[in-house]
Amino acid sequence: MPANTTSADALSLVDQQLVDNVLAGQRRALAKTITLIESTRSDHQQRAQKVLAALLPHTGRAIRVGISGVPGAGKSTFIEALGIWLIEAGHQLAVLAVDPSSSVSGGSILGDKTRMELLCQREQAFIRPSPSAGSLGGVAEKTREAMLACEAAGYDVILVETVGVGQSETTVAGMVDMFVLLQLPNAGDDLQAIKKGIVEIADLVAINKVDIDPKAAAVARAQWKQALHMLRPASPNWRPPVIGVSALKKEGMADFWAEIERYRAAMTSSGEFEEKRKKQALAWMWSMIESGLHQLFRNHPSIHASLPALSQNVAKGLITPGAAAKKLLAYLKV
Ligand code: GDP
Repeated sequence: MPANTTSADALSLVDQQLVDNVLAGQRRALAKTITLIESTRSDHQQRAQKVLAALLPHTGRAIRVGISGVPGAGKSTFIEALGIWLIEAGHQLAVLAVDPSSSVSGGSILGDKTRMELLCQREQAFIRPSPSAGSLGGVAEKTREAMLACEAAGYDVILVETVGVGQSETTVAGMVDMFVLLQLPNAGDDLQAIKKGIVEIADLVAINKVDIDPKAAAVARAQWKQALHMLRPASPNWRPPVIGVSALKKEGMADFWAEIERYRAAMTSSGEFEEKRKKQALAWMWSMIESGLHQLFRNHPSIHASLPALSQNVAKGLITPGAAAKKLLAYLKV
């Protein structure tokens, strides 16, 4: 056994140093930790879990905000404007992303260096593109862990960006304290969101680009308010507000942040803030159990051996799907 490794749960000297450096707020150490988290190598994964365990007591103090909107809604312009406003107000922010399409396209939201150029130059901001780990579950998993590492490094605001397509919104809403929808001021857009059931998970709606056509923006705000009014609110203590912003003109950032603070205060005093985090942590555990079981199933040698023939028999109608599943699952019993 090399000198710098000890028992199963202990950190190696190298990783202890990494933990210390993350806790001291060193960006390079944080980036390195996230690289470990995102690695698919099993030795890296083992190290990442130990590092995270050591960082865990230092997490939880940030406010976690999810921001979603269709491509072109102005997410990166908005995050940059808000980020700079936040830094000037004394905050430190980390920007993470969940974009499961990044493994297909090769790029990712936040991956493009020209995005958020000004924010990238600021010491108080840490920006990390979406992991390209494949499935939405895998991407979300790594983003959740990266979020914890950022909190341990002292970032007090975590923004998680996601594209307004697919299931990624619901996934991000499940890992943040507050979920924000960034919308364009036109009715077609509203209908899209309403149809997709995203409205239900929004804690705040920000209509962006109000500078282009203030009248249309006012109409959009009224429509949104009406749509939200028809829903049963997720909390008796919060009615999702609708505000207008202009990311390009950097207008509305103070109003936006005031709503976030108002939400945090309302949810904290009612106890819902902690309750939500507890529920999210348990849901996260169960989703990991499910993916772990799935992997265990797929990797089991007897299952692996019998799966092709049983699948064929199910396809041919020679055995019912239920009976085949039962047979395969029986291999997991010890
Ligand atoms: P994303 O795809 O959601 O990240 O959107 P971007 O931030 O890349 O913005 C898409 C386009 O909208 C860019 O050309 C921005 O300059 C423009 N844009 C973003 N916010 C505003 C705004 O408040 N007003 C105006 N007029 N244009 C904006």
